[in-house]
Amino acid sequence: MKMQEDFAKRDLRHIWHPCSQMKDYEELPPMIIDHGKGVYLYDVNGKEYMDIVSSWWCNLLGHCNPKINESIKRQLDKLEHVIFANFSHEPAIRLCEELKEELPEGLEKFHFSDNGSGAVECALKMAFQYQYQTGNPQKKKFMCFTDAYHGETIGALSVGCMDLYAKIYQPMLMDTIRVQAPDCYRCPFGLNRDCCNAECFVYAEEAFERYGNEVCAMIVEPLLQGSAGMRIYPPVYLKKLRELCNQYHTLLIADEIATGFGRTGKMFAFSHAQVSPDIMCISKGLTGGYLPMAITVTTDRVYQAFYADYNEGKAFLHSHTYSGNPLGCSAALAVLDIFRTEPVLERAAKRAAYLGKRLLEEFGESVNIGEIRHIGLIHAMELTPDRRTKAQYPAEFRAGYQVYQKALEKGLILRPLGNVIYFNPPLVINEDEIDRAVRVCKECLAFLHRF
Ligand code: PMP
Repeated sequence: MKMQEDFAKRDLRHIWHPCSQMKDYEELPPMIIDHGKGVYLYDVNGKEYMDIVSSWWCNLLGHCNPKINESIKRQLDKLEHVIFANFSHEPAIRLCEELKEELPEGLEKFHFSDNGSGAVECALKMAFQYQYQTGNPQKKKFMCFTDAYHGETIGALSVGCMDLYAKIYQPMLMDTIRVQAPDCYRCPFGLNRDCCNAECFVYAEEAFERYGNEVCAMIVEPLLQGSAGMRIYPPVYLKKLRELCNQYHTLLIADEIATGFGRTGKMFAFSHAQVSPDIMCISKGLTGGYLPMAITVTTDRVYQAFYADYNEGKAFLHSHTYSGNPLGCSAALAVLDIFRTEPVLERAAKRAAYLGKRLLEEFGESVNIGEIRHIGLIHAMELTPDRRTKAQYPAEFRAGYQVYQKALEKGLILRPLGNVIYFNPPLVINEDEIDRAVRVCKECLAFLHRF
C-alpha cells in the first residue's frame, strides 16, 4: 500500500489534475499507474484495473500494443521531430495517403495539430476564412447542437453547449447558434431511433431558415454526443443535414475525435450515413491513443480557396509547434496497418453483440436502468430511480460518481458521465473480460435499489 500512498501524496503536492475537483482527491487519491497491457492497467502496488473507458476514449488496440510500440521505437531512432513548415517526412506523407483511403470520399487535405480541441479550433478558423475568401464574408457565425462537446479551448467551448464546462467562461465566448440536438431517450416526438426519420430535424430546418445565411459552418459530433452522456442518434439525421448545409452554402464540420477509428462499428461515424462532411477533425484513436496528435482534414474545394500567390494574403497561417510529429505519425501508421492486417472491426462487432447481450441479461429488467443503448462497442446505461418515469437522481446524490468509486475498488474503471455509465473499451477486449466487467458493474449498481 505504501508505494501508492507515497506517490499519491507527492502527486497532490504539485499536480492539478484535469477535469477534477481537487478536493475530491482527499477522499479518492489518484491511482498511480505503473504499466499497462491490453485492456488492463496496473498500479505501483500491482493492483489490476480494467480500462473499460479506454483512458478517455483514446486507447484503441490495447495498452502497450507490440506493433504500435515497435513502430514508434523504429521511428525514434531515426527522427523524433522536425519543423513542419517547408519540411516534411515519410511517415506523415504515407499516413495521409493511407488515411485518405479510409476517410469518407472527398476528404484529402490534411492539417496537423496536437490535440482534439486544437483540431476543432483549426476547423473553425478554416471554415470562417473559407467563407470570407469565397465571397461570403457575411457568413460569420457557427451553428452547433445543444449539449455538444468539442473541447476546452475558447473556440471549441463556444461551439460546445455544456454548462458544466462553459458557463463560467460565457463572457469570453463567441456567440453561436444552437440547434436542439436529437435526444432519442427522451424523444420529443415519442419515436424510436431505430425506425424514425429524424423528425427532430425540424429544429435544424427552423434554425437554418432563420440564420442559415449568416452561418459559415455547422459542427456536429456525428451519431454520438459523447460527453452529453453517450447520446446516440440515427444516420438519417446526418444525411438530411448534409443536404441542408449544401442548400445554404454552409460547411459541415464533423468532430470525429471520439467516434473515429472504428468506435461506432465503422471506421468513421459519417460512413454510416454515406455522406461526407466538408471538414473532419480526428484525434484520440488516430495514434491508438498513444501520442498527442490530431488532424483537420478537408476537401480540395476548401483547400483551393486558400491557394493563391502569397501577396494575396489568402494562406492559412495556423500553426502548432508539434504539427506532424513523426512519432505520432509512426503510431498512426501502425494503427492503420493493424486495421489492414487483422479483422479488427469484425472482431469488435462480435464483441459488441456479446456485450449488448450480457448487459440486457443483467440489466434488462432493472428498475434503475432507464435505457441501454449502443453504437459499435460503445454501450451506455441511464441510471434512474424509476425507469418508467425516467426520473433523474438529484445531482447531489452523484449516483455515477458513487458507482465509479465502488468499481475502482473492484478494479474496473467505470468513469461516469453524470448519471450515465458506459463501456467504451479498447476494440480488442475479449468475452471473458466483458463478463468480468459486467459482473463488477452489477455488483456496483446494487446500492441504487436502496435509493
Ligand atoms: N471533441 C470530442 C467529441 C471529444 O470527445 C473530445 C475529447 N473528449 C474533444 C473534442 C477534445 O479533444 P482533446 O481532449 O484532445 O482536446
